[in-house]
Amino acid sequence: MVPTPHPSPVKATIKAGHCPNAPVALTFDDGPDPRWTPLVLDALALANARATFFVVAPRAERHPSLLARMRDEGHDVALHCTRHVRHDAMTPEEIDADVRSGLPALGGSVSHWRTPWGIVTPATEDVARKHRLRLVGWTADTEDWRGGRPGEMLDRIEGWILPGAIVLMHDGVGPGATREGCVGTVDLVRPLVSLARSRCLEPMPVDELPHPMPDRNPDAQTLEGDAAQQCVRSPCKGKVLG
Ligand SMILES: [Zn+2]
Repeated sequence: MVPTPHPSPVKATIKAGHCPNAPVALTFDDGPDPRWTPLVLDALALANARATFFVVAPRAERHPSLLARMRDEGHDVALHCTRHVRHDAMTPEEIDADVRSGLPALGGSVSHWRTPWGIVTPATEDVARKHRLRLVGWTADTEDWRGGRPGEMLDRIEGWILPGAIVLMHDGVGPGATREGCVGTVDLVRPLVSLARSRCLEPMPVDELPHPMPDRNPDAQTLEGDAAQQCVRSPCKGKVLG
């Protein structure tokens, strides 16, 4: 007898003939950026989709109206960092100071934190507990910082757009990025939302995702020793935000 192939969760959901609107999270790091963040927000508004912005505190301080717009339009404002530095190159005191100085710049309530390059050390976890921040990693990496076309990015993550997926994108140009701007990310938003909805998935802010969520960079989890230090697939060339 030929065994029945086990259906993927997505196919099974569609086959069942109903759309439960399981959540997925679209997330944007390294902003806000006065040129690109408004365009990302416009694209999200056109798609009627909500997302999470992991912002860089000094940039947030320079552009408070962009944070206000994020919140007004139903998005979640979360912490990325004050200084864009790898946590395995910082002391526990420096990590704590980074969060303490960053949170006030974000205003409002902040409950989620994605560290630079998703690098999480034991000290990161201690600081997260202390400040009652939930660490957030990702499950689908668009690698938009490379500057590829939206179609290429969609192909890269297509197999990972599943219930509970967390998609990593950038609305600012961070250290190590090999592109000048974020137009590819802006243009990715609508087809990505369409793909998710074709699978009965609804984009929601991370604070509306069921827990537990992945709390770190999946690439770092699979690497050990020296390889983990090199962070081979992420743009880790610089230590200070460009
Ligand atoms: Zn970053």
